[in-house]
Amino acid sequence: MTTDANPPLPNIAIDGPAGAGKTTVARDVASRLDYRHIDSGGMYRAVTLIAVERGYQACDWEDEDRLVQLAEKLDIDYLGQNGETRILLEGEDRTRDLRDAAVERRVSQVASVPGVRWALVEKQRQLAMSGGVVMDGRDIGTCVLTDAPLKVFLTAATPVRVMRRLVQKHCSGSPVTWDEAARSVVARDVIDSTRAESPLRLAQDAIVIDSTRLSRGDVVSQICFMVDSLRRGGRATR
Ligand code: C5P
Repeated sequence: MTTDANPPLPNIAIDGPAGAGKTTVARDVASRLDYRHIDSGGMYRAVTLIAVERGYQACDWEDEDRLVQLAEKLDIDYLGQNGETRILLEGEDRTRDLRDAAVERRVSQVASVPGVRWALVEKQRQLAMSGGVVMDGRDIGTCVLTDAPLKVFLTAATPVRVMRRLVQKHCSGSPVTWDEAARSVVARDVIDSTRAESPLRLAQDAIVIDSTRLSRGDVVSQICFMVDSLRRGGRATR
């Protein structure tokens, strides 16, 4: 229970295009502030992973209904562990599988299905209800947590985002070529920013951080500084 003496911690929304470093930054901010990190992209990846395993096709209307039912019923949980965020599906840790190439290829298509979004947005709002959440995604500031007192739009130049994705893939043991990484980043950006239902766009009250020339630590420090000013009753400015 929260009282005036113990107000809920503010929620923090971090949105931006693929490869901007949102999930890593959100995880580090949460770890530094002792908040809960919710990687909303993990939910879209989770529905996609199970759909791929079941052989669903998102281009087929009948399967869109099945995708929506899957999104409504799938038990998705987040576990903070040693500064990492693990994602449990039906109680099983599937974090690693969510980054599979097959998931990556289809996730933006699955995320364009309105019913899938409504079901997952509902789950995201539930998780943020008590405050103290850092949630990253594409529509957190514009749709999921529109009243979040701090909204960050994290971006970076496209070649930098492609390079980060390349490094991430190599580090996770599933290396891809520059062209493959570039195609994946650009294709997801196009689908994510042109879909009809809550496309990726800049919230009016978001603070833009361009991380092209910033280190991960610099970005995390800037966000923590903004949270600190907020919690001391000020405005979230840099
Ligand atoms: O953030 P991440 O790259 O893991 O997200 C995977 C995909 O999930 C995105 O490319 C996008 O299609 C979808 N997504 C979304 N809305 C969110 C988070 C992710 O549509 N809030």
